Amino acid sequence: MSIAEPETRSAGSPLRDGSLAPGRSAPLKTQIVVVGGGAGGLELVRKLGARFGRARYDIILLERNPTHIWKPLLHEVAAGSLDANLDEVGYREHARRWRYRYFYGTFAGIDRARRKVLVAPLLDEDGSEVIGAHEIRYDYLVLALGSVSNDFATPGVREHCLFLDSRLQADRFRQKLLNQCLRVSRQLGAKPDADSFVRVAIVGGGATGVELAAELYNAAAALRHYGLEVFDETRLKVTLLEAGPRILPNLPEQLADAARKELEMLGVRVLAGVPVVEARADGMVAKSGEFIPADLRVWAAGVRGPDVLRGVGGLETTPSNQVIVRPTLQTTVDDRIYAIGDCCSCILEGETRPIPPRAQAAHQMADVAFDNLCRQMEGRPLKSFRYEDHGSLVSLSRFSTVGSLMGNLVGGRMAIEGRLARFVYMSLYRMHLLAIHGWIKGLAMIAVGHVNQIVRPRLKLH
Ligand SMILES: Cc1cc2nc3c(=O)[nH]c(=O)nc-3n(C[C@H](O)[C@H](O)[C@H](O)COP(=O)(O)OP(=O)(O)OC[C@H]3O[C@@H](n4cnc5c(N)ncnc54)[C@H](O)[C@@H]3O)c2cc1C
Repeated sequence: MSIAEPETRSAGSPLRDGSLAPGRSAPLKTQIVVVGGGAGGLELVRKLGARFGRARYDIILLERNPTHIWKPLLHEVAAGSLDANLDEVGYREHARRWRYRYFYGTFAGIDRARRKVLVAPLLDEDGSEVIGAHEIRYDYLVLALGSVSNDFATPGVREHCLFLDSRLQADRFRQKLLNQCLRVSRQLGAKPDADSFVRVAIVGGGATGVELAAELYNAAAALRHYGLEVFDETRLKVTLLEAGPRILPNLPEQLADAARKELEMLGVRVLAGVPVVEARADGMVAKSGEFIPADLRVWAAGVRGPDVLRGVGGLETTPSNQVIVRPTLQTTVDDRIYAIGDCCSCILEGETRPIPPRAQAAHQMADVAFDNLCRQMEGRPLKSFRYEDHGSLVSLSRFSTVGSLMGNLVGGRMAIEGRLARFVYMSLYRMHLLAIHGWIKGLAMIAVGHVNQIVRPRLKLH
């Protein structure tokens, strides 16, 4: 494949920003910068690195975390049923293997006129500066920063709720949950009162909220095997609050109903059509005025782009901070800048709603962005993104999995439950492992995952 020659400029040894040290003259490599190494970004840099390596093209990943964990696993990390240390991928090692450069840092903006990505100062735990604010030159830029939970400016949510947007937040939730379980187990034996229960309120009856609710019961049931002998799932009181008329709006009603029944059998109080208007330090306030007391409050309703994307570099963004892209995944105002995954808003021809923020969408967008970058550098026409919705699956921990498969997989829409649904649900993660590690290491990682399920403890307790 012939790719356009990298520009030759005199100025500048390969510094962190991709420029050359003064006094040296050498061809400057074409630099493709991907911001965010999540479901979409990491798959993309793997492909770019594998194809172009470091020979004449510099593939750079800017990411604010040292390790990657696939976001759909975060509710399991939060409940303790998954040890993220086993599933995380270190960017440095991954970058070495796939021949891209990993820059540890936080994206702070874009200077489009100078084609520079602005990077915030990197601070250590004490707040002292490790690397000052700096810039990274780009020839092509792909934004893949994902999303954060949308609190819809509901009073008290930022102060009193936990979120599941990152590994750090999931770890924090797990620690608080374990502490609360310990506290309650110490008080058992006394007359049962509010202190005899761990009360959790989860706002948002989408897949994240539903999956977390079920996972908590799985974890609570396992705790008695790990030293909390008098604690079990009957000590857990989870309330799931959904503003819409039913939980799991993306699934057919019959499946959402099946999921609700399963949750209720576990002991979850499912409240649909109940908007939350305030979060407090001791619970949530519903629009009706009802107060739902809760020791732990989780906000898992809605997504929006990170604040840093609002109007970034003069790009067109939505009111919820998502970068608007054309079907080629290029931004509306700059052909050299792409956006993929949750952080973009892409409405395809004939559609009225943007592509949903899902791991399968990020995966498919990474493929098309890769293809289009190659085409753009070769001067060939670009492809339009086509979203293939393979369906939605929701895992109710070990208790059940429900969902619907769609499109080419089954030639229509098919409701599935049970073992088949569980298998397909797990397949999405396996596809991600294959996409970021390649076939050999990917299959090895899948095998190691099975072994770990047998030999590792069922809960992560530290
Ligand atoms: C608990 C949970 C369960 C889910 N379950 C499912 C599911 O079952 N199926 C499904 O399809 N989807 C699911 N999703 C949604 C899915 O995780 C996302 O749609 C998907 O991860 C989006 O991929 P992405 O690459 O756009 O963003 P992400 O995977 O979120 O990656 C974004 C990356 O950007 C980095 N980043 C962010 N800001 C900056 C910055 N300023 N500077 C540098 N780096 C930055 C982040 O650290 C992260 O690595 C779930 C989400 C959650 C939270």
